[in-house]
Order: sequence, then C-alpha cells, then structure tokens
Amino acid sequence: SDELMVAPSFTVCGAGLAGTLAALYLARQGNRVTLYERLPDMRTHSVPRGRSINLALSRRGLHALEALGLAPVIHPLTIPMRGRMIHSLQGELTFQPYGRTPEETIFSISRHQLNCALLDAAAHWPNLEIHFQSRCVGLNLSSMTLEIEDTRTRTVRQVSARTVVGADGAFSAIRQALQRTDRYDYAQTFLPHGYKELTIPALPGGQHALEKNYLHIWPRQDFMLIALPNLDGSFTCTLFLAYEGAESFASLTDEDAIRRFFDRHFPDVTPLMPTLVEDFQHNPTGSMVTIRCFPWQYAGRVVLIGDAAHAVVPFYGQGMNASFEDCFVLDECLRRHNGDTSAAFLDYQQQRKVNTDALAELAYENYLEMRAKVASPWFLMRRRLEYALSNLLGDRFLPLYTMVSFTRIPYAEARARAARQDRWLDAALATLALLVLLALLWWLWPAGR
Ligand code: FAD
Repeated sequence: SDELMVAPSFTVCGAGLAGTLAALYLARQGNRVTLYERLPDMRTHSVPRGRSINLALSRRGLHALEALGLAPVIHPLTIPMRGRMIHSLQGELTFQPYGRTPEETIFSISRHQLNCALLDAAAHWPNLEIHFQSRCVGLNLSSMTLEIEDTRTRTVRQVSARTVVGADGAFSAIRQALQRTDRYDYAQTFLPHGYKELTIPALPGGQHALEKNYLHIWPRQDFMLIALPNLDGSFTCTLFLAYEGAESFASLTDEDAIRRFFDRHFPDVTPLMPTLVEDFQHNPTGSMVTIRCFPWQYAGRVVLIGDAAHAVVPFYGQGMNASFEDCFVLDECLRRHNGDTSAAFLDYQQQRKVNTDALAELAYENYLEMRAKVASPWFLMRRRLEYALSNLLGDRFLPLYTMVSFTRIPYAEARARAARQDRWLDAALATLALLVLLALLWWLWPAGR
C-alpha cells in the first residue's frame, strides 16, 4: 500500500492526552505525523464511561500546553481550585490552601474537553493525520511494521513506520513489543483499593451545590471521597475504597448497603447525590496500578511516553501533568539532537525515568497518607509551619506540594529536597520542644531548694 512505501517520520499510537500533545509537538517541528486511536473520534461520538471525568491540571501540564500556544483554548475550560476543603464526619469544613499565594492554584478540567481541544488543534496541521477506530495490535521491531486493526471491520492491515511513539496508555501494545526484547524490565503493582465515579448535579439554577473553587475531600481513614468541580455546575466525585473487607466494594452490593454506607460516612453530601445508587451500580469500579518499565526506547526507533511508560496511582494528581511534561522534554531532546532519534530518545529517557520513578513513590506515599493525614491536627499544624517558613525564607524552603504542583523542579529533586527539609524541621521542632521542657522545669523548680 501507499503507506508501506512512504512511512511518515513519526507514527504515534494512542490519541489520548499524551499522544495528541506529542503529535502536536512533532508536527510543529515539521515532521510528517500519523496518529492512530482505537476509539472513534470523541468530538463526534460519545465516549464510554471510564477513567476520571475530570482531572487536576497543574504547573507542569499547563506549561507544556502553553509552550505550544494552547493557553487561549485551555484556560476557558478550567476551574481554579484554591485548596482542599475538608469535610469532617460532623459536616465541619476546614480549608487548606494549596499554594502560598492566591496565584498558586490547580485547575479542574474535563478529560473529554481537554482531549477534544487537543484533537481540534491537531486538525489544523496539514502534516498531521489522525486515524480513529484504528487499534494497534502489534509491532514488529525488526521490520518496523505496525499491525493496525480497523475496529469496525476487524480487519488488520500492516503499515510501515520509521519511528513509533507509544502513547497508548497503561496497557500499551507498543510497550508489549518492547517487553519481548532481551533483558526488559517490567513491573506492575495494583492497589488493594479501587475507585468509582459518582456525581453531584448542578442546582436547578445551574450553580454548584458545594463551594466551587475547591477540591472537596471527605477523608475517612480507610477510604475517601473527593469531588472536583465541572463547568456545567456539577461535581464529579470519586470514591476510593478497598476491593475486599468489611466496608468495601465487595460488601456494597445492594441498594440498602450502599445507602447505609453513604448516610453513615458522608451524611453532608449524600442528599446532594440524587442518582447515587444508580451511579454506584452502573459505573465501573476502576483499578489503580503503578507501572515501571525500562528501557523506554528501542534503537532510536520506538519511544514510550505517558502512562505507557509510567502509570502512577492518582493520589498526587500528576499522571497527566507528568505525561505532558514528557512531551515537552521529548520535543526539547529532538531539537537538541537535531532530529537524531537515537541520541534524543536516550537523552529523554535519561531525564525522565528517574523523575517519574520519584513521582510513582510520591503518589504511593500520598495514597497511604491522604485518607488519614489531611484530617489530623498535627498534619495541619506542620503544614502551616512549612508555609510560614516558606514565606519567611522564600525559595530556600519550598513545601513538597508547592514544588510538585507549582514549579517544574524535577520530581526526584523535589522529593530529595523535601526529605532534607523534613529532617531539618524535625530537628528544629525537637530542639524547640527540648527548650520548652527545660524552661518549664526551670520555672517549676521550687525556689530556694
Ligand atoms: P491514556 O489517557 O490512557 O490514553 C491512551 C490513549 O490510547 C487512549 O485514547 C486509548 O483509547 C488509546 N489506545 C489504547 N490502546 C491503544 C491501541 N492498542 N491502539 C491505539 N490506541 C490505543 N492525572 C493528573 O495529572 N491529574 C489528575 O487529577 C488525575 N486524576 C486521575 C484520576 C484517576 C481516577 C485516574 C485513573 C488517573 C488520573 N490521572 C490524573 C492520570 C491520568 O489520567 C493519566 O496519567 C493520563 O490519562 C495519561 O495519558 P496517556 O495519554 O498516557 O494515556
């Protein structure tokens, strides 16, 4: 076929968030780019209920979008979230700002609208071609031929590719081809918790039923509910709950059990969820996985980006942000090495692997801490102290959350710096406690003894 004769310079598999942004960067460099996506065009077809309806977009992700000039189309799709609004069991609200200044906010954005905006932008490039309903089912690394299945007719054709970008998500078919090569490292680890999406519809007047500019959290030790605002006045809630156990997805099987569970643990929000039981029973329960693999590239001919290279659990809200950062760094590497893909892919992998490994750790640590810690007074006090120190010392003391969400400091560096700051703060607090104790003893010591 024609495609076999003139291979595009880059073939991208997966027109999700990472794949479409990467294709845009590659097209901007003047490459001929072909993008294959297994699903129909989401701008004209409805998408199946699936992974997270809305996402938290922060500095790294925004930066990668802005660098392509996409700010004017993305900003109107976002809702600023200035901090966490913690809902206690008694319905008390506690506000925890995310940033040190009002400008330091994260943004809620619909996955669907963001992906559509990227696809719209992609349609403007004459050197970028998108094929929907085209699933990549195999890649032959020696001949560099891709097997593309037309999902309507189930027919498979061979297309030749010069360079392949695997952006086909956590269960990437492109990565599977790499996994069959010698000494390939691969590990996947699932959490014992799953997640389910629920909804708080807009009030009859179209307003939000909870305060709009916050990420709402109901931390309940072993499980947690969160809610992110949507532009249409609704909130998308996500319940994170164990698969097995006394209170788990396995035990919430009938309407009664579901209602009892929500009335008991989330009494302030349940009345705002008229379709709770129906949503609970019909929406899929999603699993959460960490995927680590290495190498991310093969002979300068194949490279992995986004979840295909590094799926992380969603508790830092950074999976997409890191995937967008991949696209930015890959673009930089290709330019630095004048399009020499062998050198560029090695450079990219060298820069990114260590950082996304650090992100995987950060996200897992947050999984352990977020359900319980954000509600603890000790955590709150320490957090306030960190922010106060940061205001005092400026960029010499940056809270971890600030480094991850509001700067582009590489994840590994942010994690190491935060560990140093923690040790320093622990030592300072211990010294302070000792001084207070000594002062107290001095004061209590009977005079004249
Ligand atoms: P995907 O989004 O999975 O896209 C892959 C694309 O490839 C899809 O379009 C798919 O249809 C297509 N595809 C798959 N297989 C094939 C094939 N064989 N051939 C052709 N096409 C194929 N990140 C954040 O930054 N902030 C958040 O707040 C956040 N919240 C999250 C909440 C949850 C519950 C979850 C699960 C994740 C969250 N994430 C968040 C992470 C984020 O969703 C992912 O990191 C991001 O979607 C990765 O983008 P991607 O393009 O690499 O993969």
